[in-house]
Amino acid sequence: MALKNQFETLNVLVIDDDDFVHDMLIHEFNQLGVKNIQVEASGVNAVKRVQNGECFELIIIDLIMPDMDGVEVLRHLSEYQFNGAVILLSGQDQRVLDTTAALAGAQHIRVLGAIPKPITIDILTQKLNQLFEETTPNIPPSNDDISLEELKDAIANDKIVPFYQPQLAFSTKRLKSVEVLARWVHPTRGIVSPASFIALAEETGMIDAVTRSMFRQALPQFKELSSIHGHSDLHISINLSTDSLCAIDLPEQIEDLAKMHGICCNNITLELTESRLIQNLVSTLDVLLRLRLKGFGLSIDDFGTGYSSFEQLKKIPFTELKVDRQFVSDATNNKTSKAIIESSVSLAKTLNMQVVAEGVETNADWELAKNLQCDLAQGYLVSKPLPFRDFVHWIDEHTTR
Ligand code: C2E
Ligand code: CA
Ligand code: CA
Repeated sequence: MALKNQFETLNVLVIDDDDFVHDMLIHEFNQLGVKNIQVEASGVNAVKRVQNGECFELIIIDLIMPDMDGVEVLRHLSEYQFNGAVILLSGQDQRVLDTTAALAGAQHIRVLGAIPKPITIDILTQKLNQLFEETTPNIPPSNDDISLEELKDAIANDKIVPFYQPQLAFSTKRLKSVEVLARWVHPTRGIVSPASFIALAEETGMIDAVTRSMFRQALPQFKELSSIHGHSDLHISINLSTDSLCAIDLPEQIEDLAKMHGICCNNITLELTESRLIQNLVSTLDVLLRLRLKGFGLSIDDFGTGYSSFEQLKKIPFTELKVDRQFVSDATNNKTSKAIIESSVSLAKTLNMQVVAEGVETNADWELAKNLQCDLAQGYLVSKPLPFRDFVHWIDEHTTR
């Protein structure tokens, strides 16, 4: 109800040359409580209205129109520094829609969706919620000013701690593995995400210290998790920056730590982001091969987003492939994303690799990734990354469910 009231104040412009589309959208918007809906059959007229200063928070744009196509409308909106959001609609191929969305994004226009016609009320609701979530002022504290000194202090005093996110088998819904995700528990900034400090740690040569600290803190906690009844064969995944692969004794260091905590190397997987893989090829291959020989799993993270995924699959004996969440969360509406998952799975199966679907947020994402033969599910649908004690609690609840 609260959201419905929020929708009431929206100013929407629909640009489409089809009267039927006007009627349908007006009907759907009315059902959602939106009152101010303007329609334009001509791209030229619509652009004039924006140029003349009429204010719209949302513009729906058809791609093919007789006097001015959607791509040109977007170009003009960008010229007039339109600061609302757009939804692209078309009967065209999804890839044409996606490319148009990417072009609009490059012109600094906020695209809520590129959707084949007809748009259903469910999708429209989802897009309006997205519009409000994104525009609700909820600005996180800026972390741009994190200093190296502060970072060093945080690492030295274990203020950067492991959070845990579960991975479930699609077939049984049983907990198979946990991924360790670093969080900085900061006295004034709150929980700081790795996006704000991993790059700084890499640039300043502090990433090995972060990695070591994650292993040191996570392995005893993981030991505790695997002692919970029924979880003796739990696996753990830890992210490894490619910069750490230059340390030639890394396999021995990690092996020593595992032994110290009585954890079998076979239960530890190291996740590597492919876009940053391989800077110093010889030492990287040396390290990765010896990690494999010691029994550690190797996972290619964010698969499909880098530039040389296939080349790296050929060179490195990966045991696991993680389909990036941008494809998983999109696949129910986007044929291209679905095809990328399908071919990633088929490639992985041929190479005897396990497939993890990342970013499973909805039941529809779960069903699709399961049907596409992914092995493990990770994502907000199952659980967000949790601090250790909360995760122990989560396991208890999940096991009794
Ligand atoms: P990643 O390895 O790809 O980790 C998955 C990211 O997706 C995590 O973000 C996780 O919180 C998020 N995620 C999981 N499920 C969902 C979902 O359903 N929806 C959405 N929207 N997001 C989901 P996080 O924790 O912010 O980590 C970001 C990246 O930082 C990680 O991406 C990883 O590359 C890096 N990172 C995290 N911890 C470490 C670490 O200890 N060492 C290194 N080198 N990198 C780390
Ligand atoms: Ca990862
Ligand atoms: Ca990933």
